[in-house]
Amino acid sequence: MVEARKYRVFTLRNFAKVPQVQQYLTPEQLHDIEVVGNVLPFKVNNYVIDELIDWTNIPHDPIFQLTFPQREMLSAAHYREMEKALSQDLSKAELKLVANKIRYELNPHPDGQQHNVPMLDDTKLTGIQHKYRETVLFFPSNSQTCHAYCTFCFRWPQFVGIDELKFAMKETDLLVEYLRRHPEVTDVLFTGGDPMVMSAKKMRAYIEPLLEADLPNLRTIRIGTKSLAYWPYKFLTDKDADEMIALFEEITERGYHLAFMAHFNNPVELKTEAVRQAIKRIIATGAQIRTQSPVMKHINDRPADWKEMWLEQVKLGCIPYYMFVARDTGAQDYFAVELERIWDIYHKAYQQVSGIARTVRGPSMSTNPGKVQILGINEINNKKVFTLRFIQGRQPSWVNKPFFAKFDPDAIWLDDLEPAFAPEFFYEQSSALKNISLN
Ligand code: SF4
Repeated sequence: MVEARKYRVFTLRNFAKVPQVQQYLTPEQLHDIEVVGNVLPFKVNNYVIDELIDWTNIPHDPIFQLTFPQREMLSAAHYREMEKALSQDLSKAELKLVANKIRYELNPHPDGQQHNVPMLDDTKLTGIQHKYRETVLFFPSNSQTCHAYCTFCFRWPQFVGIDELKFAMKETDLLVEYLRRHPEVTDVLFTGGDPMVMSAKKMRAYIEPLLEADLPNLRTIRIGTKSLAYWPYKFLTDKDADEMIALFEEITERGYHLAFMAHFNNPVELKTEAVRQAIKRIIATGAQIRTQSPVMKHINDRPADWKEMWLEQVKLGCIPYYMFVARDTGAQDYFAVELERIWDIYHKAYQQVSGIARTVRGPSMSTNPGKVQILGINEINNKKVFTLRFIQGRQPSWVNKPFFAKFDPDAIWLDDLEPAFAPEFFYEQSSALKNISLN
């Protein structure tokens, strides 16, 4: 039985008081965290600190890299700019101006996310994104934070208060109406931040209207969450853990597929007694847990990391789902792995697991036109190419068609690639990229 743990959160304001921080970090490292943490979000909790980070392996420990800002996450110029600002006697508002200037230079809104916001009559549904035909993303306004922040996060602008970039919505009424008018949508993905920061009561307030609407098209309720890795007590010993579990049971008993899209970035996140018990409890409600993560330097860029994750996940009853490529935003330069090497990591890990774990799809880039999977590196007519395909596309007809890009050993993202045999990629002329209103 796992003992209850009181959630304690640490940010720039109080992290220096953490005993492990005092014991293991140098004054230079504290300074770097201060500088970088004034630009990119920083939040960690006592579970991550006590049970996941190996403090004898600092700074290389993958979970330390995942949660604590590092100097190289900013360019030298951006680092100096923020450091200089902090050394001056600036007001909070003046510091924020400097930070925001840098933030806007870090591509805060990659891949046209703003363009996926649909309309309902004259109302812009700012808490919804609808990019792929069958799936709607819903951003409840109560879930715009997480139990800890990942240093690679592509949703980081939501956590640093660049307000106009914030997606969020209070009510489910508009969501229900939108789903009613879009019978092609079968899946709603609750996302954030992390919807599993919400209390069971708040979560119920979002879920109940959906269940009561009894929409014939709605089949799957997905919850995108990193709570299993960052705060498994949510499902075990927190005061409303039983209520949350009861809500999951209610969803599955009403005949919906409840899918946990769980983020696990390193095998160490699967090893504590708390996470194992939490996984067991969630699966017992009839929900399924599918797992996903990007490949990132410093965190999981070895085939052995992925092999271990997939094997462990299957053993615990989870379904390996996606291997992503780190997105082109925030500290991407720090984490980016070349596509060639990512393919190699995927390939080698995939070859070492049984068919049961080969449910995983990847490596996949979530780009403006869609989710582009690297199928391999091949030679065609004496030309080395990346073979690619859409797993998801703005146009359903794009999905599954192989297409080819010139091999480039330095490429880290689709934008770095050029078509191998044509002046442009087949989808580039599509009206779906020019007129992306989905209503
Ligand atoms: S849990 Fe997800 S949304 Fe939250 S910081 Fe990590 S990657 Fe970003």
